[in-house]
Amino acid sequence: MPSPHTGRFAPSPTGPLHLGNAWAALLGWLWARSEGGQFALRIEDLDAARCRPEWVDLLRRDLDWLGLRFDGPVVFQSQRGEAYQRALEQLASPGRVYACFCTRAEVARAATAPHGAADDGPVYPRTCAGLDAADVRLRSRTRTPALRFAVAAGPVRFVDAAQGPVVQDVQATVGDFVVRRNDGVPSYQLAVVVDDAALGVTHVLRGDDLLGSTPRQIQLQRALGLPQPMYAHVPLLLGPDGKRLAKRGGPPTLSEMREARLLPERLVGLLAGWAGLSDGRPMPAAALVEQFSLAHLPRAPVQVDAAQVRATLQQLL
Ligand code: GLU
Repeated sequence: MPSPHTGRFAPSPTGPLHLGNAWAALLGWLWARSEGGQFALRIEDLDAARCRPEWVDLLRRDLDWLGLRFDGPVVFQSQRGEAYQRALEQLASPGRVYACFCTRAEVARAATAPHGAADDGPVYPRTCAGLDAADVRLRSRTRTPALRFAVAAGPVRFVDAAQGPVVQDVQATVGDFVVRRNDGVPSYQLAVVVDDAALGVTHVLRGDDLLGSTPRQIQLQRALGLPQPMYAHVPLLLGPDGKRLAKRGGPPTLSEMREARLLPERLVGLLAGWAGLSDGRPMPAAALVEQFSLAHLPRAPVQVDAAQVRATLQQLL
């Protein structure tokens, strides 16, 4: 019998893990374990310019320190090129992708998970949608095209386990989006969809900065004939300045806490307190499995008090 719930944590190894990553990892892990499910680790390392193997080693140690155990082998997106290529071919035969010669700057961000509507830029005006095969051949001589997915018209609706009903018209808000950059790298949207299906992921918990990507991913799932997981987009942790936590310059990173010999139970306690699962008392992740419920999550973003975090850290020094 397959597990009723397979979740995953999918960090991009572009820097040390911060509290926001720990928050998503812990909540995703608890959701899976509370339903007797599996939880996988996937390394989203397609953006070779920004990802480094050192960060992978570090994040694995940090997650282990936090008390999170993963099932199955760790999946690296950088090793899954063939699966993405097959998906692109599958989209090409019914004409759901087309070559796009628009500038690199416009498409460069496509391999990285976008964070907020502003990252998505303007709706793509379908400049290249009308090119015929001869145009494409001619232009390809001087410039390698990106590939864009021709999105379907009409609203995409789904019920998010944390946010409730969501509706987005992808054509009106994003337009045809990049599924392969012109340097050959598959986009975040394509890789996530292919990998979630290949891993048998049934439940996706992630920060609500990615809520706006989900309708695009659902459109890709439909076009590729893949199942749609259940989504839970959880509120973000914000820094004291009200901005989303960055990998640098915010409260201590997980490795800093680990190296300062903080008891991981203290960090888990803090996170659980913010998630409405406990009063913030130190406790191991495993002790929270039984009481976990998405219903306790706050509705609004959680503003992290860096002083509180540092004070928690200091107590142990
Ligand atoms: N790799 C993405 C990030 O670190 C997360 C992608 C996802 O959970 O779908 O923001």
